[in-house]
Amino acid sequence: MSEPFDIHDHRHQMKQLRESSDTGLYDNRDGVSCPVCAAAFDRLFILRGRTQQFPENDGARFCLLNQDDGVYLFRH
Ligand SMILES: [Zn+2]
Repeated sequence: MSEPFDIHDHRHQMKQLRESSDTGLYDNRDGVSCPVCAAAFDRLFILRGRTQQFPENDGARFCLLNQDDGVYLFRH
């Protein structure tokens, strides 16, 4: 069972790059660890809409965390 991830707990460690009503994109500035695999991730996408196009993948590994307020996609 993964830890829940609350962006507000990490506000000061992550730079918000984009935010809309149904997506968010954050840059991990301080080695915040992924709640799924515990390794530091690179970017966090939050997908809150019912349908979302997956961000372009350059081959990096992703971890997914499905929470009540959206799907959290951690790119490593
Ligand atoms: Zn991970």
